[in-house]
Amino acid sequence: MIKETPRMTGTVKWYNKKKGFGFITSDMNGEEVFLHRTALQPHEEVHIVPGDRITFKIQKKEKGLAARDIKRFTEENEFLTFDQIENDIESADLETKRFGEKAEVPQSDQVENGMKFADLDLKPELLRAIGDAGYVIPTPIQVRAIPIVLKGQDLLGCAQTGTGKTAAFALPILQRLGKTSDSQERSKYQNNSKKHHLRRVRALILSPTRELAIQIGNSFNIYGKYTGLRSTVIYGGVGQNPQVKKLQSGVDIIIATPGRLLDLIRQGYINLSHIETFVLDEGDRMLDMGFIPDIRTLVKMMPQKNRQALIFSATIPREIIKLSKNILHEPVEINISPNKPTLEIIQQAAYVIMKEKKQALLEYLLADSSITRALVFTRTKHSANRVVKKLQRRGIRADAIHGNKSQSARQNALKNFRTGKVRVLVATDVASRGLDVDNISHVIQFDLPDESETYLHRIGRTARAGKGGAAFAFCEKNQHRKLKEIEQLIRMRVKIVRNHPYAV
Ligand code: AMP
Repeated sequence: MIKETPRMTGTVKWYNKKKGFGFITSDMNGEEVFLHRTALQPHEEVHIVPGDRITFKIQKKEKGLAARDIKRFTEENEFLTFDQIENDIESADLETKRFGEKAEVPQSDQVENGMKFADLDLKPELLRAIGDAGYVIPTPIQVRAIPIVLKGQDLLGCAQTGTGKTAAFALPILQRLGKTSDSQERSKYQNNSKKHHLRRVRALILSPTRELAIQIGNSFNIYGKYTGLRSTVIYGGVGQNPQVKKLQSGVDIIIATPGRLLDLIRQGYINLSHIETFVLDEGDRMLDMGFIPDIRTLVKMMPQKNRQALIFSATIPREIIKLSKNILHEPVEINISPNKPTLEIIQQAAYVIMKEKKQALLEYLLADSSITRALVFTRTKHSANRVVKKLQRRGIRADAIHGNKSQSARQNALKNFRTGKVRVLVATDVASRGLDVDNISHVIQFDLPDESETYLHRIGRTARAGKGGAAFAFCEKNQHRKLKEIEQLIRMRVKIVRNHPYAV
């Protein structure tokens, strides 16, 4: 069972970069907490050294405590929200906070191609249940995933919770399970409940948390209520007997967290050798929580041939790609919001500053070697050139890319940026359009854009392919309103850094 605790502080005791793990000494009681590189922001991995002050959450694992969601301690302390500066709110809130807590229900503006559920080749018993649930229009992920899953293909879906992804896999799974040769036998069993135990577990959905498992279990009950298929939810932290009883009465579908599932398999209550469809939900969270070895163990217990597998993840880090190569066979890839950066994984901050101090602040920030590849945005070509010249004078490898440069000069600048010859690329918005460079650790907005939307496009240059990144914006004293507009657009508060030498 994994239990999360509140955020705490500590010091890195040791960290082996080669092996990717080490230990933190917790401030609270001096306890040692395991630190695995997957708990670090990707761009920080190479910079963690003993003595670093960090904040982290802990999770209790079988072997002891492990850290997750690690952030540098200074960042937490130095940031205050924009509203706090204006004394608009009284309570201190040091964390970036999303407006609204509830998972978003998919909006009707997400409709693709005017599709209806009836166009998706779903059986009447499923359409009826969908109707009962009050769903009218399928969400984009449902439109795209349902036909793929119905065909029996493997899928790698990049989508967050709140997009309707549960129905996107639950509906076609229910349909496929209802269709196979077992269905006749099953209808016999329905008339004779004592024979439920003859059912085989044919679909497995793995969830990182019990809350999500319960939620998915509820969805299967709602969508499957006219199918005669039976599902159950398996998770730790509670007595196993009711779960075992349910299993013994016979189920077709199991929704489970990995730990308890393995436990019950080892006790002989569950057999995965008849699994037809396997879903890994919230793959990136599974990774954060250290479940990947358990998942590999579970996959080995399933049939290796003629088994469908689906992986869903809000971000697709390297490890998930690696895992998917082992599990998925010629998967179809779906990215439900390809143009939108995953805001949650970008560390955003704003610096309120006098215009004439911006260059000094930029140079001050660039003294931090964790800024390995920075894309800096300026409003004009002229100021892009000026910034680069000054950086070069300070010995910082920088180049500019804008419309006044020849094509070959632009290509050259890009190439040098990509290969790391140039650490800082200063760009105007127009010139940077379509710029596709991996591993940009920081996006720095030297000037705020005129259009709030542009802010979003700019910060999306970091955190590509689900990797984390940082986005800093310089906000002139009279631009508070602009920043507010941006916050409204992204539906997040941007932390204000007050603790720096050029603060106003
Ligand atoms: P999920 O991303 O699966 O957690 O779904 C988020 C929420 O959207 C849940 O409350 C679902 O019940 C709801 N939902 C899923 N699909 C639809 C749909 N097509 N129309 C309306 N609501 C939906």
